[in-house]
Amino acid sequence: MELNRTLQQYINGKWIDANSKNTRDIINPFNQEVIATVPESDDTDAKNAIDAAREAFDYGDWATIPALERGKIVRKIADYIERDREELAKLESLDTGKTMEESRGDMDDIAGVFHYYAELADKNGGEMIESPIANSVSKVVHEPVGVCGQITPWNYPLLQASWKLAPALVTGNTLVMKPSEITPLTTVKVFELIEEAGVPAGVANLVLGPGSSVGAELSSNVDVDLISFTGGIETGKKIMQSASVNMKNLALELGGKNPNVIFVDADFEVAVDQALNGVFFHAGQICSAGTRLIVEESIHDELVSALVDRVEKFKLGNGFDEETQMGPLISAEHLEKVEKYVETGIREGATLAVGGKRPEDPELQNGFFYLPTIFTDCSTEMSIVQEEAFGPIITVEKFNSEEEAVKLANDSIYGLAGGVFTKDIVKAERCAAKMRMGTVWINEFNLYFPHAPWGGYKQSGIGRELGKLGIEEYTETKHIMQNLKPEPLNWF
Ligand code: NAD
Repeated sequence: MELNRTLQQYINGKWIDANSKNTRDIINPFNQEVIATVPESDDTDAKNAIDAAREAFDYGDWATIPALERGKIVRKIADYIERDREELAKLESLDTGKTMEESRGDMDDIAGVFHYYAELADKNGGEMIESPIANSVSKVVHEPVGVCGQITPWNYPLLQASWKLAPALVTGNTLVMKPSEITPLTTVKVFELIEEAGVPAGVANLVLGPGSSVGAELSSNVDVDLISFTGGIETGKKIMQSASVNMKNLALELGGKNPNVIFVDADFEVAVDQALNGVFFHAGQICSAGTRLIVEESIHDELVSALVDRVEKFKLGNGFDEETQMGPLISAEHLEKVEKYVETGIREGATLAVGGKRPEDPELQNGFFYLPTIFTDCSTEMSIVQEEAFGPIITVEKFNSEEEAVKLANDSIYGLAGGVFTKDIVKAERCAAKMRMGTVWINEFNLYFPHAPWGGYKQSGIGRELGKLGIEEYTETKHIMQNLKPEPLNWF
């Protein structure tokens, strides 16, 4: 994809500018250079895209062609992602600042998601059920929901998009996607691949623009049957309200403030390593980051000192530099938000063990960098422990019993993910059973794969993406009953 031109959005099989002709510059968070210019659309463009998707669903044949055919097309998208892996990874790193190693890993995961759903395309058939009524047959079939609005965030731009695009397409829906206005590049590229794979015009549409106009239109337009949103809790609440206008099907993947419980009998090296991996990938800008370390008191000091030791050696820098372990935050505005959280943590009485400021390295001054930060002496009353800062910050709390550890882990409005580190597998299973989260990792943190469902308990969301449940989000279930011996009832 050439970046030295204004990119376009994809509506009804055509690459077009914003109706208003407005554009937005896309910034590299490492050095604030403009890397691309994209259309800055508004509700008119969103309405046009919704009309195209509606027309394609109501009068096109995408929903009625054999599922196997849709699967073949989705498999081609997966193949093209693998073919263009390096280009896609570069775009993602330019756009988000994450390291190339992380972006390459993302592209492998994304191709895996398209392959996984391509494979499931023809395995979503209905079933005959035993009818309790004499002389009748009953079957249950799964049908596409219709027109889907899909809204994604900036932290894992294409990964989050793939979790929505692949299951929506294989099940025969049509869709309008709106990526985050600050990180649209890989999504634009994937729509080029969707076109190349032969998805018919109008089936998959892409609108670029802000949430306040494009996103609001997608979530309130009565021609949209389903809205699938990944992003922050406050936006999720707004979308839930506007989706009520026509009782849209709703899938919400929201934030997290995820506990990572470390017992004294954990493998110490593994626990330290995973505690770092659990938070500092992509500078902590991960919905499932294990930002709340809950540590058994007897190993607290040793563990904190091992973490600090490792964190002090982190290499921050350009995602394109092989040595770089952690890139910048996404924007100036987000950097400010993270700084404010650290100030609040200090004010609330937490102790800064390491970090807590921007780096002084002259090479990093043009980027939105923040040092990896660890707070000790934390408690659940602190907002630094309760609210999602979405940056490279760990808070450490202590516990003295299994019961206390689980209580602390569950003390949150969120319920996205959590982890337990111990060699006592029975204790680990006991904790996992009591932890109120959509995913619990045991002796692991932040590992995802397309086969397992992903989503949140409590205010972390509604519904599940990935796995077989990811297909169910995009289907309606219909019961068809046939009377084989119709006779008048003569009731009236
Ligand atoms: P955000 O809520 O600010 O924006 C997400 C998307 O919503 C963007 O495309 C934005 O333009 C759009 N939007 C904004 N206002 C809107 C409105 N009124 N109506 C419709 N759309 C609107 O979130 P963000 O800052 O881009 O992403 C970070 C958040 O995403 C974090 O809270 C993170 O935890 C969450 N997240 C969750 C998951 C998950 O799987 N649960 C995955 C990734 C990110």
